[in-house]
Amino acid sequence: MARWDGLWRNLHLATMAGDGLGVVEDGAIATVGERIAWIGPAAALPAGDAARTYDLGGAWVTPGLIDCHTHLVFGGDRAAEFELRLTGVPYAEIARRGGGIRSTVAATRAASDAELLASGRRRLEALRAGGVTTVEIKSGYGLDVATECRMLRIARRLGEDPGIDVVTSFLGAHALPAEFAHDRAAYLDLVTGPMLEAVVAERLADAVDGFGEGIAFTPAEIEQVFSAALRHGLPVKLHADQLSDQGGAALAARFKGLSADHLEHASAAGVAAMAAAGTVAVLLPGAFYTLKETTAPPVGLFRRHGVAMALATDANPGSSPLVSPLLALNMGCTLFGLTPTEALRGMTVHAATALGLGGDRGILEPGKRADLAIWRIGRPAELCYWLGQGLLEGLVKNGRPWPEPKESG
Ligand SMILES: [Zn+2]
Repeated sequence: MARWDGLWRNLHLATMAGDGLGVVEDGAIATVGERIAWIGPAAALPAGDAARTYDLGGAWVTPGLIDCHTHLVFGGDRAAEFELRLTGVPYAEIARRGGGIRSTVAATRAASDAELLASGRRRLEALRAGGVTTVEIKSGYGLDVATECRMLRIARRLGEDPGIDVVTSFLGAHALPAEFAHDRAAYLDLVTGPMLEAVVAERLADAVDGFGEGIAFTPAEIEQVFSAALRHGLPVKLHADQLSDQGGAALAARFKGLSADHLEHASAAGVAAMAAAGTVAVLLPGAFYTLKETTAPPVGLFRRHGVAMALATDANPGSSPLVSPLLALNMGCTLFGLTPTEALRGMTVHAATALGLGGDRGILEPGKRADLAIWRIGRPAELCYWLGQGLLEGLVKNGRPWPEPKESG
């Protein structure tokens, strides 16, 4: 007789195993410790004994969702700017008055640790209420050594919550801070030198990110950042080809990037390079929507080349104040033409790969981490279909229910 710590039954599964949703109707899951020990049709469940048994009453179970691209930790917000734009004040004027990313940098530098932690936690709770059990959080609103490290420390603190895992990315190359406006080279030297060294010394980052764009950093500058990251043994990823084709997709691929993100203007050659390198395309419909962009990412090219597509909220105060993973799923379908299957795989199995966690989570199968999202739905496509309906019934993180449900049996 098998001995399990947890047994979940009376449920349907979308495991994400194989190429599709991996649906198993009337399934069961048994766990030992943090891992899945057995999963499959309830009729095939071997004889066993579980310390705790949970009856899910016919709910659907997917892997816990993975939001692989967020800027969740920041000071202030940009609601006043949003309001100004809608009363006809042009963006250039808002920027002249100190708005835009510079206002978030100023607010983040001025915020206390307690304030950053509290506002970050509120946004994290919103993601969790939408089924997220793993989230990536970037720095990039400090743009000085002390504040970049502080942002990443706060992200790590958020990850001390046993109900969620936080993966961090160092994004010193997010924007040129005002004090370096006339000396780009000096800022790049700071990012790739003392700033990165401080981040590495405290093990604050799991990856290094950059913003490659006409309004941010050039391909040569991103190369400098990536080369420094690789010298420290950190993988890279890139905000690539969002507003124009900068060759970002190919650049990320050349450095064996975990992911290239946004990609609205990626070229066919760039997509082919990503396919060859195994770089995941992270699609961010929240920013596309907020900025009222009109060129969608080349989903057809990703399909043709077999590039894995992940989907994320890009939660940030400026271009994507989106803290609902389910709305991101819907937008991926309505704005980018993903099928519900592609969208759901994009926030599970492919999001895990985009974080370098593909062997560990994102699929429900024996040996994988027992991170589950439990949904009150009749079919998985509902997760992409409803706008604003709370569908989550509960989560399981590392084999432990969250919140603790009533036991049965
Ligand atoms: Zn971003």
